[in-house]
Amino acid sequence: MTGLMAGRRGLILGVANDHSIAWGIARTLHAHGARLAFTYQGEALGRRVAPLAAKLDSDVVLPCDVEDIASVDAAFAALDDRFDGKLDFVVHAIGFSDKAQLKGRYVDVTTRDNFVRTLTISCFSFTEIAQRAAKRMSEGGSLLTLTYGGATRVMPNYNVMGVAKAALEASVRYLASDLGPDGIRVNALSAGPMRTLAGAGIADARLMFNHQRAHAPLRRTVSLDDVGGSALYLLSPLSGGVTGEVHFVDSGYNIISMPRPDVLQA
Ligand code: NAD
Repeated sequence: MTGLMAGRRGLILGVANDHSIAWGIARTLHAHGARLAFTYQGEALGRRVAPLAAKLDSDVVLPCDVEDIASVDAAFAALDDRFDGKLDFVVHAIGFSDKAQLKGRYVDVTTRDNFVRTLTISCFSFTEIAQRAAKRMSEGGSLLTLTYGGATRVMPNYNVMGVAKAALEASVRYLASDLGPDGIRVNALSAGPMRTLAGAGIADARLMFNHQRAHAPLRRTVSLDDVGGSALYLLSPLSGGVTGEVHFVDSGYNIISMPRPDVLQA
């Protein structure tokens, strides 16, 4: 505990369970003194999120389905009651696509309806959250979203999620440029493959996981604490001069071109 986040109020979107990336980030922020509010999607997840929030001394647990803009506005209104209309940071860790389209060739499996739905939930929701959060950050703030290397390089089966993450990363740059004059920083954390509910929706997820472990410079996948530590940096004054960045937390996998010959031949 450093007290680095003491007195700072933050909204965490995207905890589904204790494997969620958002949970790893929340845990670290709480350990450094942050005061947290959580959202959940649907009552079933709400029953899981409330006890997790309690472990981090929070009873601010609000329903929010980003497909329904009225539910987003209701969550911010309820948050205002608890945080006096002020916010210092936001973690957006939300992604969704039809699992049936995260398998096979992008060119074959992608439909218009799921393309629009995937981009709305996984990309545009960050802009809609930023629009609302910025109004509550009169003294500056920091916004963070979660992305994946499939945004810029082709990962088998990642398909429309890769397209959504590319658009999300572009959104980070446009939002950073627009909100920078108000002292609001906007960044993305690009995590390596992790065993979460969303991660399990991608075909051959285990293969991606094992491939990263074998070929990444650190020869391992990343943990919730790895992601939490980098998120703490991006959300705290430690990264005060950083905005519009995509920060990789992937054991260095993104720098590698050819897979290791010894592993390929084994
Ligand atoms: P997760 O399943 O734990 O979290 C995904 C969250 O998105 C869930 O809490 C779910 O409720 C929420 N969500 C989906 N649709 C929603 C909606 N309409 N309204 C509100 N919330 C909604 O999985 P995770 O891996 O922790 O995913 C968090 C973020 O991290 C996602 O953006 C994901 O793409 C990204 N990411 C994941 C990995 C990985 O390997 N798991 C790697 C890099 C980036």
